[in-house]
Amino acid sequence: MKSEAGALTGDVAHSRPDGSLMDRISATNQLALRMIRGGGNPFAVQIDKMISPVEAIVEGRPTLMFGTNSYLGLNFHPACIEAAGEALRDQGTGSTASRAASGNHSGHVALEKEIAAFLDRRDVVIFSTGFLANLGVLTALAGEGDAIFLDAHCHASVRDAARLSGATVRIFTHNDAQALDALFAASPIAPARTLVVVEGLYSVWGDLADLPAIIAVTRRRGALIMVDEAHAFGTLGTHGKGACEAMGVEPEVDVIVGTFSKSLGVIGGFCATHAPGFEGLRFKARSYLFTASLPPSIVASARAALEIIASDDLNDPEGIRARLWVNARTLHQGLIDRGFKPNGSPGPVGAVRLNRVDLATNAWRAMLRLGIYVNLMIPPAISRHEAALRYSVSAAHSDQHIQRALDAFEAIRREGHFDQ
Ligand code: PMP
Repeated sequence: MKSEAGALTGDVAHSRPDGSLMDRISATNQLALRMIRGGGNPFAVQIDKMISPVEAIVEGRPTLMFGTNSYLGLNFHPACIEAAGEALRDQGTGSTASRAASGNHSGHVALEKEIAAFLDRRDVVIFSTGFLANLGVLTALAGEGDAIFLDAHCHASVRDAARLSGATVRIFTHNDAQALDALFAASPIAPARTLVVVEGLYSVWGDLADLPAIIAVTRRRGALIMVDEAHAFGTLGTHGKGACEAMGVEPEVDVIVGTFSKSLGVIGGFCATHAPGFEGLRFKARSYLFTASLPPSIVASARAALEIIASDDLNDPEGIRARLWVNARTLHQGLIDRGFKPNGSPGPVGAVRLNRVDLATNAWRAMLRLGIYVNLMIPPAISRHEAALRYSVSAAHSDQHIQRALDAFEAIRREGHFDQ
């Protein structure tokens, strides 16, 4: 018998061949509501207003946000707001078409050059979201007759892109270089036609990829490797370039993908490579060719944010990344001191497991009642039979904010949410 979580991840659409298309959606809705049981739908909770990167009014109540992914708080930085406002007034609200159709704005070209300089890569192509960057890169790089090997914890955008590429997709046990090696051994497809995809810092559980081991296998086998740095760009490494920088493996990585929606505080995505001729992506990636390019205000704000990150010094205790890491370590250690087992090492992302959707949902509601918004993780965002409270830390959190989050975790433990 299929579990409810299994049904939610998509099986339901195929288990009711006689149902109408609309029936399938409403069946999924009913299943979801049954899974999260009682007390209203967490995914319908309304944020009335953001007041700062980490403070909001949620359903009329002041709330501290521990789930925004605004790791550096730059979505409220005066320089970013100023740059966006100026571009908005000077250049209008949107680009209104794709770059292939209506041309490259100077800001698009400048941002690509600036990311390339920051990452020390030959070519950068920007996309309208990180999802579209993964979609464009994977479908342009691989197709029928090729193979894509994915870490089991890769983001939905990577999985969907791999599937849509038409390549043979194989998934290896999370962070297990030997399991990756076994995929190569069993694959009838030549390594030269195989792409390995991992994340630098995993988006839900907050652990780091074992990049040295995974790259060693990929290199030995003669395949290409792509690292999605969505959560590590701006947060990890001496200069904030990401997990590849932090682990000293940058030169070994063929393609880096990232997003502007986290550390940069806006929206957009990019891919960066050293490969000559990668410009051809602009003719092949349909998610680049056939969707509107980023609005000037977003580009201006992303550029201002990148400039702030590039000039930030990790050794400066007043710097934003130093602040982020103090907060990340304090929260992680504070949770351990209170008897929790946060997943992964201290960092911008963490999670505590509850392993049942209804328990996790109740714990999530209890946190919100205490004025702390974390991320409720249930399928299909994570695999079946898993549930967790995920949190993201920001440089914009104060010591008091971190303490209040810890107090709330302690209180919900006392209420019995973690003892089942
Ligand atoms: N990759 C990863 C690892 C992500 O976590 C996300 C978004 N959470 C994306 C890609 C997609 O990024 P975007 O929100 O810019 O579409």
